[in-house]
Amino acid sequence: MRKSVVAIVGRPNVGKSTIFNRLVGERISIVEDTPGVTRDRIYAEAEWLTTTFNLIDTGGIEMSDEPLLVQMRHQAEIAIDEADVIIFMVNGQEGITAADDEVAKILYKSNKPVVLGVNKIDNPEMRETIYDYYTLGFGEPHPISGAHGLGLGDLLDTVVGYFPEQQDEVQDEDTIYFSVIGRPNVGKSSLVNALLNEERVIVSDVEGTTREAIDTRLRNDDQDFVIIDTAGMRKRGKVYEAAEKYSVLRALKAIERSDVVLTLIDAETGIQEQDKKIAGYAHEAGKAIIIVVNKWDTVDKDEKTMKEFEKKVRSHFQYLDYAPIVFLSAKTKKRLHTLIPALKTASENHAKRVPTNVLNDVIMDSLALNPTPTVKGKRLKVLYATQVAVKPPTFVIFVNDPALMHFSYKRFLENRIREAFGFVGSPINIFARKRA
Ligand code: GDP
Ligand code: GDP
Repeated sequence: MRKSVVAIVGRPNVGKSTIFNRLVGERISIVEDTPGVTRDRIYAEAEWLTTTFNLIDTGGIEMSDEPLLVQMRHQAEIAIDEADVIIFMVNGQEGITAADDEVAKILYKSNKPVVLGVNKIDNPEMRETIYDYYTLGFGEPHPISGAHGLGLGDLLDTVVGYFPEQQDEVQDEDTIYFSVIGRPNVGKSSLVNALLNEERVIVSDVEGTTREAIDTRLRNDDQDFVIIDTAGMRKRGKVYEAAEKYSVLRALKAIERSDVVLTLIDAETGIQEQDKKIAGYAHEAGKAIIIVVNKWDTVDKDEKTMKEFEKKVRSHFQYLDYAPIVFLSAKTKKRLHTLIPALKTASENHAKRVPTNVLNDVIMDSLALNPTPTVKGKRLKVLYATQVAVKPPTFVIFVNDPALMHFSYKRFLENRIREAFGFVGSPINIFARKRA
């Protein structure tokens, strides 16, 4: 099911990121516990009552030196393109400014529902002033206080009320859905085109799944694949460039709909900070991941080159230790044939279920090999384990006291599970639970 998207727009310092953090709350802090993951806090899943949706803080998208009004215009445009509902935030302690008017003008022309949030209304007396904001033209102003968490419920009720009817996105069990992500010019379009032009590949159709994304279906040796969001990738002379400022956002949406994510690195320019951010999102989303080192043709090679490059990749992407690395050239098509098998393996592993009895044999062997730690005189006891989900494979280990399950011991068990079942390409989750 496609989740609705909500974007927060407003000039700097009105409190957008404060509200964003409140709404996505816990999830962000979990993410930041993952070592080595760097990210912009611009896009995250949020929840209101029984509805989950994706929230964009447009304020986090561009930190450029452009004049304020230009930045505001860009942010409003992104919100209009990407969101189902827009939260327009103003500062209730400052009144309406020229930048607010500028944003209002752009939002007004779009046909997207806009909910007006007047922030920093920290106490009931201040509510009197919010009627001034009717003049912005978006109906009832919602008084909120991000700092104190006031008024958010009413605001969200209105927002959720505008969500479009959910269309079920039918995903076929036997089809592998994957996306190709990476910073501009790593060769995403080239790779997609190279795959589509392979002799043994049949490109059957282009289907419009969501408003803005165009997916491409292809078949190779009886295996169906769908490449998510190939808009602008299939033609030369890209449409994509014009939309570069959305590229991260688009990547995030594509990741969400994928089973496997190909995260591209440019062998010519080497690994850059942005590569880590983009790959970090795929990791957090729990998708199977393949690291594709493209433009391998540009590298002078001897028998050690690949090993050395691999080492470099591993040290930059430590949290992706499960992701296989595929070296290829989209341009010359050298080694391109290694990609499809890697995709199949990663996808299978992402959906793999292991039998409970075998899992428990592995756990018990592990306990014998490396006895559980003792914390303050109390020893961790592991009772049994079970797999509770796939995509990604998720395991619950029942113990006497989850607090005794240290990161390092969990890591040890994860490695043992990986050795036993081979989850190459897929992340796995392990949770410790107290036995009821
Ligand atoms: P952004 O630039 O729009 O993302 O704004 P921030 O979320 O960074 O907030 C800007 C400043 O306003 C920070 O100092 C916040 O602590 C403050 N702030 C945010 N929400 C409120 C609020 O509801 N009341 C008050 N008084 N201050 C707030
Ligand atoms: P995108 O922005 O990620 O879609 O990247 P493109 O596919 O448009 O490629 C950017 C540039 O890199 C183009 O000039 C491509 O011809 C070039 N390129 C892509 N793949 C390769 C490759 O494997 N080897 C070499 N030498 N150049 C490549």
